[in-house]
Amino acid sequence: MFIRRIPVFILSVFLMVCYFVSIGNAASAAKDIKIVASFYPMYIMAKNVIKDVPGVSVQNLTPPLTGCLHDYTVTTSDMRKLADAQVFVANGAGMESFLDKIIAQHPNLKIIQLSAGIPLIKGGGNEGDNPHVWVSISNAIIQVKNLGRAMEEFDPDHKELYAKNTADYAAKLEALRQKMHFELALYKGRAIITFHEAFPYFAEEFGLKIAAVIEREPGSEPSAKELAETIEIVKKNGIPALFSEPQYPSAAAQAIARETGAKVYVLDPAVTGSDDYDAYVNIMENNLKILKLAFRN
Ligand SMILES: [Zn+2]
Repeated sequence: MFIRRIPVFILSVFLMVCYFVSIGNAASAAKDIKIVASFYPMYIMAKNVIKDVPGVSVQNLTPPLTGCLHDYTVTTSDMRKLADAQVFVANGAGMESFLDKIIAQHPNLKIIQLSAGIPLIKGGGNEGDNPHVWVSISNAIIQVKNLGRAMEEFDPDHKELYAKNTADYAAKLEALRQKMHFELALYKGRAIITFHEAFPYFAEEFGLKIAAVIEREPGSEPSAKELAETIEIVKKNGIPALFSEPQYPSAAAQAIARETGAKVYVLDPAVTGSDDYDAYVNIMENNLKILKLAFRN
């Protein structure tokens, strides 16, 4: 009798273990959502939208960049991050040249393009649309709301939390936008010279005029002719300030400054930075300080 009961006992313990393991797996499969963001500004937006949502994490696809994403070729190790991801957050508007490759290789990945619905500015030369939409605070707010809505749909169990996070972060960005509008109102119509084509949306938002761009394609030094043209524009318009970017060397800007007497300041398009929830806000606060300093001088 006793001997016959042992297998029954073992069998029931075994079945119980199986049952709990399967419950555990089902629970974690339903709960864990791995998001990969294409690059830094999308990563910071996603961090804010998924803040404190249980089981949801975000990773930056690209390692700390030394420049803007459009110069970047994704590596196999970047692509490996997508292996067990469910959501890919992209800026869109042509910023991720590798987006088609990702869609083709990961047909089940939910792709969220945050620039959806934002009117695009045409790029210089023969380029397509300018993809640097997040550099305008108003556009960043639209992008955050696009992501919040998409996550509410994708993970309805945490709908309220996504909605709350989105509203909180959008309110913070709105306060920043209003503060910048108020403090920059005095300088509407001012001409600025920027480094690469990262600032048209920012300039449009605050009524600044981009008189010239030093290096349309980052990494390619301007030709002597292009440099001479920019120097001419600076002299003719009496432009006192040139803006370089922290991600790129400022040799060309320095050369123009030497020729014209204009000063070089650094404006940050927020393509690199700290892991802080408020990193984008802090970068823009600093840009505001720099602009006021440059325009006052
Ligand atoms: Zn760029």
